[in-house]
Amino acid sequence: MELTAGTKAVVLGLGTSGLAVLRYLQSRGLEVAVSEFRSDDDLSDNEKAVCRGLAFETGGHSEKFVLSADLVVPSPGVPLDLDVLKAARERGIPIVGELALAAGEISVPVIAVTGSNGKTTVTGLIGELLQSSGFRPFVGGNIGKPLLSYLFEAQQYDVVVLELSSFQLDLSGAFRPDVGLLLNLSPDHLDRHGDMASYTRAKQRIFCNQEPGDTAILGGDDPLVMESAPGLSGRVYTFGYGPDSEARIVEDRVIVTRDGREDIFELKETRLNSRVNRLNAAAAILAAGCVGADSEGIRKGLSNYTPPQNRMTPVAEINGVWFINDSKATNVGAMAAALESCPSSVILLAGGRDKGGDFSAIRELVREKVETMLCIGEAAKKLVNTFSDVVAVEEAKDMAAAVDRAASLAKPGWIVLLAPGCASFDMFSGYAERGRVFTGLVHNLKER
Ligand code: ADP
Repeated sequence: MELTAGTKAVVLGLGTSGLAVLRYLQSRGLEVAVSEFRSDDDLSDNEKAVCRGLAFETGGHSEKFVLSADLVVPSPGVPLDLDVLKAARERGIPIVGELALAAGEISVPVIAVTGSNGKTTVTGLIGELLQSSGFRPFVGGNIGKPLLSYLFEAQQYDVVVLELSSFQLDLSGAFRPDVGLLLNLSPDHLDRHGDMASYTRAKQRIFCNQEPGDTAILGGDDPLVMESAPGLSGRVYTFGYGPDSEARIVEDRVIVTRDGREDIFELKETRLNSRVNRLNAAAAILAAGCVGADSEGIRKGLSNYTPPQNRMTPVAEINGVWFINDSKATNVGAMAAALESCPSSVILLAGGRDKGGDFSAIRELVREKVETMLCIGEAAKKLVNTFSDVVAVEEAKDMAAAVDRAASLAKPGWIVLLAPGCASFDMFSGYAERGRVFTGLVHNLKER
């Protein structure tokens, strides 16, 4: 967006994204102030150093401070229904996010990925496919480097691949990806978006500025995603297990039919040969092809790619029982996908901080796959209430107790699956720590 030197901007919330915004706005000659919810004591040394000499408030966002600005830039973690933001809106002060700031500043093709689940996997995979095809991709956004940091090192890259959250898309302004992907939609972050309709609207914003030369890639098996298709301005490609998709999955392969040509990509010998990762691979193959990746490069990338940790990661086999870490399954959709991909009976470790998901939607799946559900954290009672008439459900006091109990219940051939369907922040610093604790406990068990 157009920024005028001397404009006073307030960055609301520091963190990785806020720091990148601050640096960017300063580089454009704006007068920048920072309003931070955390107290002084909770800031890192780097955050303190960066804010030295700036107008700076900590311990909350005051109206006096924020409303003195001409422009407000909230970090993705800041809820948009804060009173101070309502007041800014009433005064007509523009509220924009990182994507809106970067819109129009990027001169190479942009691929942007959103959806409820699979974003990180697909974003990283597109990066890998492009790299194997000789491109120099910038891979970031909601993972790794924030988008604005790209602008300081743009000469190193010839394509931008972004993972985008619904929070980032809420304030995306005129941002327009050349290739936008909407992978799937299932309830997530309803604690913040309020309802599924507003969450869906945020996700669909990925396409709202697209033009006829752009491409939208949609999860073709997902009816909610496909509801977005009729209003799109660009070319539409779909991927999925259904027969009509441009990238369709048949057994262990992805068959891409585009511009009258057919190309086959085998996944059997790759680390992407699971039910959901075949979908992720199909989406990534289409996206990489849209910006010119060649089939041989794509094949090389598919065989090189290792999915990130905490996503259906096998930890160990103990007495014929596989322990699987899907700590990143933080919503009901990912929990369901994890259960669907288990070929045998499951002891399910679930719970944590509830994100407002409707667990009752997967009662039948749980009945079919789960022998016993072991529940931890704040959502334990909700899970017990939802599932106790469907399967055996027990509360465990912590992860250690849950792992011990799972080991004592599981029979050879069964799977012990950590797929919590909830956020982790009631007990851990994040999903990665939750996955590490689970993995450590399983390794201890194996040694015993
Ligand atoms: P995101 O970045 O959207 O959270 P990740 O790639 O980190 O996605 O995966 C998050 C969770 O979703 C993990 O539990 C993973 O196993 C699961 N998952 C990955 N891809 C898909 C998919 N296409 N459909 C459903 N679940 C998926």
